Amino acid sequence: MNSNRTGILSIVATPIGNLQDMVPRAVQTLQSASLIACEDTRHSKKLLNHFSIDKPCVAYHDHGDKKTMEKLLKRLQAGDDIALISDAGTPLISDPGYRIVAEARKRDITVVPIPGACAAIAALSVSGLPTDSFYFGGFLPVKSGQRKTALSALKSSTNTLVFYEAPHRILETVEDLIDVFGGQRQAFIGREISKAFETFLQGDLTQLRQQIAEDSNQQRGEIVLVIAGADEKAETSAVDPEMVLKLLLKELPASKAASLTAKICGLDKKAIYQAALRLQDK
Ligand code: SAM
Repeated sequence: MNSNRTGILSIVATPIGNLQDMVPRAVQTLQSASLIACEDTRHSKKLLNHFSIDKPCVAYHDHGDKKTMEKLLKRLQAGDDIALISDAGTPLISDPGYRIVAEARKRDITVVPIPGACAAIAALSVSGLPTDSFYFGGFLPVKSGQRKTALSALKSSTNTLVFYEAPHRILETVEDLIDVFGGQRQAFIGREISKAFETFLQGDLTQLRQQIAEDSNQQRGEIVLVIAGADEKAETSAVDPEMVLKLLLKELPASKAASLTAKICGLDKKAIYQAALRLQDK
């Protein structure tokens, strides 16, 4: 403990798969910290053992963990350096840590990043989709209705959209994307980045849906979904494809309703037809 200064809270990124992506400064910071706050101590022990880091670890979850947060802040104020890591990647990015960082800043405790891997940025950087302006949405809602509502709010955004998605939901989510954005929107999937079964899928949403449906491996592992932003010209039309389709389905058979919707909205007929069948099933 150093009583002359407050400690430093280091937010340390760790690899998202390949341990060789651990940066030397991350190893040094963890080796010199008094304490390592982990999302899951058992999970992080494997990483720490690999780098021969033998430091006390404490589990820290952010939500409902005020007691641990207070203890950590007290130790920082008493001069201990603390490193925060999550199970993988950059802490706080769809991971715990926001509350303790906010509180540390309020108390004038120095907080520094040790930058490294982040799945969202890794996927975006190889997606071939515009990177000048993007929106990171973390995980979409689990329920289809809520997911579609969240997507509808982003439908006109011209930013590239980046989401994390669970493998068992990826097909459903791509189907919802087709319903809301239309099947012709370009997209990209980065799966198991930096790991043995790393794969990348690219194409329009209809093509991605087909590739995922035909290959069950695409419904395994860890996934980042990147979707092109709305085409500014196309978005000048105020027509909502889902609304048009629903209205036409009340009057016409699915194939006719789909082909008219596709014409009105300038979208892919096949994708709209699939959406029409799904709407009829509900
Ligand atoms: N903080 C992490 C980061 O910086 O990337 C993300 C944590 S979040 C709880 C975990 C999600 O990130 C996974 O469900 C997956 O969507 C994505 N992810 C993590 N590692 C990945 C990888 N190697 N390949 C693709 N996606 C990954």
